[in-house]
Amino acid sequence: MSDQDTFKKIISHAKEYGFVFPSSEIYDGLGAVYDYGPNGAELKRNIKDFWWKSMVQLNENIVGLDAAIFMHPKTWKASGHVDAFNDPLIDNKDSKKRYRADVLIEDHVEKMRQKVNKEVEKGRAKFGESFDETQFRATNPNVLRSQEKIDQVEGRAAASLASGDLADIKALIEEQGIACPESGSKNWTDVRQFNLMFDTKLGSVAGDAATIYLRPETAQGIFVNFLNVLNTSRQRIPFGIAQIGKAFRNEIVARQFIFRMREFEQMEMQFFVRPGTQKQWYDEWKKRRMAWHRVLGTAEANLRWHDHQNLAHYADAAVDIEFNFPFGFKELEGIHSRTDFDLSRHQELSGKKLQYFDPELEQNYIPFVVETSIGCDRTFLAVLCQAYCEEDLGDDKSRVVLKLPPALAPTKVAVFPLVRKDGLPEAALAIFNDLRFEFDCAYEEKDSIGKRYRRMDAIGTPYCITVDHDTLIDQMVTIRERDSMAQERIPVSRVREIVRERVDMNSLLKQL
Ligand code: ATP
Repeated sequence: MSDQDTFKKIISHAKEYGFVFPSSEIYDGLGAVYDYGPNGAELKRNIKDFWWKSMVQLNENIVGLDAAIFMHPKTWKASGHVDAFNDPLIDNKDSKKRYRADVLIEDHVEKMRQKVNKEVEKGRAKFGESFDETQFRATNPNVLRSQEKIDQVEGRAAASLASGDLADIKALIEEQGIACPESGSKNWTDVRQFNLMFDTKLGSVAGDAATIYLRPETAQGIFVNFLNVLNTSRQRIPFGIAQIGKAFRNEIVARQFIFRMREFEQMEMQFFVRPGTQKQWYDEWKKRRMAWHRVLGTAEANLRWHDHQNLAHYADAAVDIEFNFPFGFKELEGIHSRTDFDLSRHQELSGKKLQYFDPELEQNYIPFVVETSIGCDRTFLAVLCQAYCEEDLGDDKSRVVLKLPPALAPTKVAVFPLVRKDGLPEAALAIFNDLRFEFDCAYEEKDSIGKRYRRMDAIGTPYCITVDHDTLIDQMVTIRERDSMAQERIPVSRVREIVRERVDMNSLLKQL
């Protein structure tokens, strides 16, 4: 099965089991806007909870914020979004498909990289045990030639994007022979800039209306509240402000399910530091954020760093953590050293001093900022893709199971009476009613026990408890584990404690 097939299956599984629906589907949906169903809402809430606890609860020097989506329009002038939050778009004249020119080039470079990797794998197969990958990459003429080409294309694209030389971006696409992925045509329009912000009107009287924007990132809500938080939270630098909230971008191309949406949620933390220490904090947050992904169970091979060549106007260093989605490695999280750009600009446009008095240095300054910014929806997709598993159980039987980290699973435990009679439902309901105060749980008595297990596997429920006739005599139940399908008998009196031990988010947090 190709990765694309797997991706299609994941999308239909997400819909069939109430994780993600296309928005307003009865009207045929709305491009790149999605709704989360009952199970999706729970999974998303757990992801946000894990992020919030790891940031705010576990760090005394990070506090939370919940700023409004609407902000004074000057905010976006100050941040540079009005003038520079553009993506370079290009249309294919034959297929009439629209693309981001930078993404077309990135995908082209990724293909070149795959070729190099194939060359390396050939080398590995040829030389066997004695193969030294670093040396091979540094000396093999084919690899060196390809790597030089990659560096040239990347370097030129970065320089032209930075200087706004859109004609050169088009020239590069043509020189590299990049074709429309849908039609294979190389008949391109010129590259144009497209501002990604949605605007709307504030005020009920049309004449009085002011244009305001739906925020394209949550970060600015943090910057404009810097002084409020500083003055009310007794924090001293270095300290951070964390926020989870909706952001909106009128994305040019939105074809990868919830990877690229027009309305999405970000989990962002801005860490304010003494000028000159930003590099040290940037390295520290890179380390901490990668550890967070690893604790969630993401395999090392599915994560990689991608250093930005084309730095945003506000950054002096930037890196992405990329995840190996079924459509390739793509950005999941960004870690950016944002300098003092944002606070300086807000100070300039608002006329309010956004400074910090450092008692150790006995000096006022505008703090520097290191940001960690992760998409909640992209994390959801990464978790889902990693968890999705089709298993052959022999005897022509198979199952689809979501091997979600138990702490993130929408339902932690399901309770079943083996049959719907003989007092078993009453005994099972008593257990369910005890558990529901502590965990998201389900009670089911319809269908065979096998079918009920399969349904729970498909939504990633880590434990099922079955009450049978023996339970009424010996007060023991069967607990069945999702991944191994192993079953054991445990006393009813210990069910809550045993489930807690195995699904508790604290055990993940303690590993951070
Ligand atoms: P991309 O290059 O993929 O457009 P970006 O570099 O513009 O992303 P940032 O501005 O760094 O993204 O945003 C921080 C995070 O917000 C991203 O790492 C991603 O997880 C998430 N994000 C950004 N745009 C979207 C989107 N359209 N849909 C879903 N999540 C998004």
